[in-house]
Amino acid sequence: MKRSVTLVVPCYNEEEVLPLFYQEYCKVAEQLQEYVVEVLFVDDGSKDRTIELVKEMAEKDERVKYLSFSRNFGKEAAIYAGLKNADGDYVAIMDADLQDPPALLPEMLHAVTEEGYDSAATRRVTRKGEPPVRSFFARCFYRLMNKISTTEIMDGARDYRLMTRQFKDAILQMSEYNRFSKGIFGWVGFKTKWIEFENVERQAGETKWSFWKLLVYSVEGIIGFSTVPLALVSVIGLLVCFIAFVFLVVILVKTLCFGDPVAGWPSMACIILLLGGIQLFCMGILGMYLSKTYLETKKRPIYICGETNILETNES
Ligand code: UDP
Ligand code: MG
Repeated sequence: MKRSVTLVVPCYNEEEVLPLFYQEYCKVAEQLQEYVVEVLFVDDGSKDRTIELVKEMAEKDERVKYLSFSRNFGKEAAIYAGLKNADGDYVAIMDADLQDPPALLPEMLHAVTEEGYDSAATRRVTRKGEPPVRSFFARCFYRLMNKISTTEIMDGARDYRLMTRQFKDAILQMSEYNRFSKGIFGWVGFKTKWIEFENVERQAGETKWSFWKLLVYSVEGIIGFSTVPLALVSVIGLLVCFIAFVFLVVILVKTLCFGDPVAGWPSMACIILLLGGIQLFCMGILGMYLSKTYLETKKRPIYICGETNILETNES
């Protein structure tokens, strides 16, 4: 019997690019004759005609499966839902906008089936076509992340990845609410082959990630995979105490030796403001960890499924 591959495709308002995606999918499925290649679209609460298009495809083509969320839960939730409901021997996560070249699939499959890897991941070595400011901050983020986290997170890594069942099950075991896939993939370990490619621009439609959204996502990554900021807070506290102690000694000696001239209130105001700032900053860091812990303890479902054509859906 043929082995099967499921492509998990998160879609949020992708009506413009879906027909192109389907064409490319058919091409690559034809190339991979020795496999049954299925596609599982996860509609992340799109507000356009995405779900209608997907349903049309599913009617004509029985390899097309879909799952539609009750609202927009975010790409991370879509990836989780896709992995949970994918039943192929191998599973790949792929963006709908064709920025993850389907042409790499045969090479990825070869790595997993013949070369003994548990997953084949991709990273882009250029960021052509991306705003320079965004690339700059992205690079800074990866550098910082790799310094403060023990989990390896590859610069330029995409979520485009093919994996074995074992790898997929390991990821599903990480059922945290605040998900950061790039960290989760690194955390589970196993042998991963990295395939490099030149950045491809989105084929149609618009990016769903604003600069602000990316910033929030990067904070999620840091909080999810490093506790260094918490330790940093203690270090800052100790440092400020030390400086205060030195000042105390200096002022004491000065007063004893030279009497007490009129105190400089501007410097006092500066010190109070500075300390107030440091305290708020540290409380902010604590607050971020606490808020994430709060959300985790609620144990809310990661996604809610509205419609699907998969028979036995396991609700999360
Ligand atoms: N996406 C999603 N939910 C969201 C945002 C994005 O499922 O809330 C999907 C989107 O449809 C696409 C993929 O995630 O398939 C990557 O999004 P996009 O191409 O906009 O991001 P970029 O490539 O610009 O980082
Ligand atoms: Mg994209």
